[in-house]
Order: sequence, then structure tokens, then C-alpha cells
Amino acid sequence: MWFRRDLRVRDHPALSAAAAGGDVIGLFVLDPALWAQSGPVRREWLRRSLHSLDEQLNGRLWLAVGDPKVVVPQVAVATNATAVHVSADFGAYGKQRDAHVRNSLAASDQELIATGSPYAVDPGTVRTGSGTRYRVYTPFYRSWLAHGYPPPTPVSTPRWVSPSASAKICNVAGLSQQQSDVKLPEVGEHAAWQRWAWFAGNRLAAYSEDRNRPDLDGTSNLSAHLRWGEIHPRSLLAELAPYLSNPGSEIGAETFRKEIAWREFYAEVWDANPTSTWHSLDPRFDGELKVDGGESADARFAAWQAGLTGYPFVDAGMRQLRTTGWMHNRVRMITASFLVKSLHLPWQRGAREFMMWLRDGDAASNQQGWQWVAGCGTDAAPFHRIFNPTKQGLTFDPDGDYVRVWIPELRGIAGSAVHQPWLVRGTLAEPPDFTYPNPIIDHSVERQEALARFAVLPPRNG
Ligand code: FAD
Repeated sequence: MWFRRDLRVRDHPALSAAAAGGDVIGLFVLDPALWAQSGPVRREWLRRSLHSLDEQLNGRLWLAVGDPKVVVPQVAVATNATAVHVSADFGAYGKQRDAHVRNSLAASDQELIATGSPYAVDPGTVRTGSGTRYRVYTPFYRSWLAHGYPPPTPVSTPRWVSPSASAKICNVAGLSQQQSDVKLPEVGEHAAWQRWAWFAGNRLAAYSEDRNRPDLDGTSNLSAHLRWGEIHPRSLLAELAPYLSNPGSEIGAETFRKEIAWREFYAEVWDANPTSTWHSLDPRFDGELKVDGGESADARFAAWQAGLTGYPFVDAGMRQLRTTGWMHNRVRMITASFLVKSLHLPWQRGAREFMMWLRDGDAASNQQGWQWVAGCGTDAAPFHRIFNPTKQGLTFDPDGDYVRVWIPELRGIAGSAVHQPWLVRGTLAEPPDFTYPNPIIDHSVERQEALARFAVLPPRNG
């Protein structure tokens, strides 16, 4: 069983398939290419998650380091495996890698068998009436729902065995070096189920109202667990069933199901458009929309990265990201919009920064999320919908509590006034080292500038 983004034992179709075939060796391959791209927070999450899975396997998770195209066939031969079982990977890199491994294994009469994937419904399964891929969320959601998702896979009891020394793989316990100081919550399958139980019992009923409030703990915070496959969306959808038929929780449960479906939709869009990782789905945005570069653009980018733009709601989000490896969805939208439409920087720059720090960093959801905000993706927000960071803060963090958590410099400002510190500046007893900046740009001026740049684009397909 070659584990990848499926670091769990429950509801695991590939593991069940492996168990049905006889003795099972649990393998994880640390691919230097993916490790290097991952950023310190995701590396640390992975390290802890592997330890957690190793415990579940009674110390029988084996680790190989190297290019999986080379390492997996080598281990398969050394262990005399009949087959290598995986959950399917729909990313461009993963698909190529797996095709290569499949061919190499075939040369020694061994098979790569893919069962299940990180999604409730595999990308490519749900099609429009004319057989094309969906580009708009709402009709996708309807078809996805009508198609239905399978129930959880019954628990299997694999006979875990250890490979012979000649396989040259080591136990995961050897992976000990801490990768980041970011404070992470509990990691692993057990923690994912505990978080789900807490969320379902305490927050799901109010989810549709609370999910936009970064000052409340109103969302599931399951994204990183889902990203690593510590819990599967199919399991969550099955868990939702009783809440969907309960009048007290049905609206919250339905909203939650729609969010899970956004994850599935973005995987669908990414699978159908693999170059959208770094290229805008609306090609005008990569060639013809004027974006800023040079030293002053770099300075504005650095202020955005550090949470020092002078717009508290934006800065709180960027600091939350650096401190925890997570940012609330509403604030992801505001910080992304600010970078693209107030600072006039390419969305790719921001997407790269998010991928560096997010513990749930996922190429499908992150790149498509950025393209949605930038107005260049499928079913994107219209370009002229430009979030005003101050108004958004006043609406979704009405008492300013979220801002005060992440910007200690502003803790002396009570209530919602914290969203406009420039109005109270000078009236406060500011400490001599008060360093919080005035706004680095005027949002209303830059809004007009963004609209003017957009207005001169040729019509789409024109
Ligand atoms: P909840 O509100 O509890 O939602 C439940 C689950 O639904 C999430 O865990 C997630 O798997 C899924 N989900 C919710 N909203 C979305 C969405 N808009 N798009 C896709 N899936 C969604 N999500 C990631 O998992 N990885 C990313 O790298 C990522 N990057 C993003 C970048 C930008 C610019 C934006 C606007 C959004 C991004 N999102 C990403 C989506 C969303 O912000 C996170 O999934 C969400 O904040 C995670 O918190 P949660 O688990 O508490 O979400």
C-alpha cells in the first residue's frame, strides 16, 4: 500500500483492496521534488501525520526517500510484491508519475492498482448534457448531487508485514526533525474525527451564518485533514445525512455539503485544465491586463506579505497565515482581492505565497480560489466586484476582535474602530514604539485604477 494523500485507515478503498490481496506493506515515499515545494508548515504537518499513521499501523509504516518513479518499482521488486495499491491522483504531476510507475512495474509483472481518490466523486465523472466538462459551479453541484456519492468503505483489517532488510527502507520514526515552529493543531486521522465531532455537535447548525465570521470559530477547520486524506469527504458526507434531515441543522448541513462540493468542483476544473495551475483561464489576464512590477511593486508585495499594509483586516489575515498556517476563507478572499485589485500585482504571486504557508495548501483549491478572486477563472467573481477591506472588516468582524488577536499594535483600540486606526490616530496614548503603518495605498483610488485597467481589455474571445 503506497500511501500518498490518504494518510488514514478508515474508509479507505485502496487499503481495502490491498488487504483483500494478502499481506500488506505500508509505504510512504518522500519525494524530494514535492518536499521542496511544500513549505515548512506542510512539511511539518506531513511529518506529524506520518508519525500518527505509523502508530495506527503499530510501527509498520515504511519510509523510502527518492523519486517515486525509481523508488517504488525498486521496493516492489525487493519485497516481491504482487501489486502496488494507491488512491488515484488527479494532479498533472501525479498522473505522469503514476503512468511511469505503472509501466515500470509492468516490466516485472507487477501491477499499479488505483482504487478511490481524494474526492467523493472522481474528477471527470460528472459531465454536462453534451458530455463536456463543467465550468460553472451551480450546474456542477446539481449534477454532482444527482450523481450521488458512494457510502463509506467498510473497515478492512490488513495483515501488516515488515519488508526484508534488502528493501532498504526505514521506519517513519526516523523522520524526526521539526520543520516549522508554526503552532499546529493535533494532526492525524484521530484528530480529524475529533474535530469533526466537535464541529458537528457545536457549530454545524449555525454554520451558514457563522462561516463568514473570522472572529468566531465557526468553520470546521478540516481543510488540512482533508488535504492529507486523514479524513475523506465521502465519510463527512455520510456523517452529514442525519443533520440534513433535521430541521434544526439542515441549512447548516446543506451549506457545508456545498463547500465540500466546491473542493470537488475545483478538482474538476483543474483536472480539465491542468495548465490553470499558473495560467489564467481567461488568457487576457496573463498578457493584456496591466500589472505592476519593479521596486515599488516589490515593496508593496513585501508589506502585504508581512501584514503591514495599514488595512487591519488584510494585515490580520496575513499574520494569521504566518502564525498558524491557516487563514479564514473570508479573509483569504479579502487579502487576495487586495493584492490583485488594490496593489495591481499578478494573482500568481499571491498564490505562490499562500502555497508556501498554508497547511491546507492544495493546488486545485488554491489556484482556482485565486483565479476566482482575480476574476480570471471559470465561474469567477466578476472583475468589478472589488472588496473594500474596511467595509468587509466592519461587516464580518463587527467588534474588531479578529483584528486585535492578530495585530497586537492595535489592541488599544476598542470595538469596530480598530478597522480604521487612521481615524483615531493621535487621540490614543500610543506607545513610542507604535509601528503600525498608515495605509500604503488609498483603496478607493486603486479601485478606480483597477477598473480602468480592466476596461481596456479586449472582449473575451475577441
Ligand atoms: P469550512 O468552511 O469548514 O469548509 C469545509 C471544507 O469545504 C473545507 O475544509 C474545504 O475542504 C472545503 N471548502 C470550503 N470552501 C472552499 C472553497 N472556497 N474552495 C474549495 N474548497 C472549499 N482551500 C484549501 O483546502 N486549500 C487551499 O490551498 C485553499 N486556498 C484558497 C485560496 C483562496 C484565495 C481562497 C479564496 C480560498 C482557498 N481555499 C483553499 C478555500 C477555503 O478558504 C478553505 O478551504 C477554508 O478556509 C478551509 O477552512 P475550513 O476547513 O474551516 O472550511
